[in-house]
Amino acid sequence: MAFQDYRLSKEINRALDQLGYTEPTEVQEKVIPTALERTDLIVKSQTGSGKTAAFAIPICEMVAWEENKPQALILTPTRELADQVKEDVTNIGRFKRIKAAAVYGKHPFRFQQEELRQKCHIVVGTPGRVLDHIERGTLVLSEIKYFVLDEADEMLNMGFIDQVEAIMEALPKDRTTMLFSATLPEDIDRLCRQYMTEPKSIEI
Ligand code: AMP
Repeated sequence: MAFQDYRLSKEINRALDQLGYTEPTEVQEKVIPTALERTDLIVKSQTGSGKTAAFAIPICEMVAWEENKPQALILTPTRELADQVKEDVTNIGRFKRIKAAAVYGKHPFRFQQEELRQKCHIVVGTPGRVLDHIERGTLVLSEIKYFVLDEADEMLNMGFIDQVEAIMEALPKDRTTMLFSATLPEDIDRLCRQYMTEPKSIEI
């Protein structure tokens, strides 16, 4: 399997070339075609498997540059991971001029508010601060087509379950959800049953 087989746009293929990604990893091979069809996904995989690009590639492919409101929301358990994911998304979306914003606690709210007010296709953030922006109306969810829970087990271990549920309640119903986790405890199973539509399970 090669990235060319997914019929991605030339801008995305060019970015993958530049990053030196020639062949998809196992998780990418399973996730990319399914995500492009907009099927919900539960993915059991570890860090280092290439999971970030597995969700970032289809999301960047589907982003419409002309739309100014965010089209994808990615939740991460930590600020460091949010920055890392933002960087990966920006690299993959470079030739589409995709704009991503990272929002997390302990950083000035007003600076993030300004970033969200400008053109912003993809938002990456930690649950508490993301919910804060939703409640204050500085993050508009009406155009969100893709929602990702990255390292979901870590997020719940850190006590973010209520914020995650409130965010999922606030999202448009017509969206694609992808959940990535190293383990799938009961809490995550319940979230999937409650907030996902006929999800496909993938285990790496
Ligand atoms: P992740 O599991 O998302 O943290 O990714 C682990 C590392 O693999 C990162 O440094 C990526 O840049 C790299 N990577 C992701 N996909 C590929 C690929 N298809 N080919 C080569 N390296 C990749």
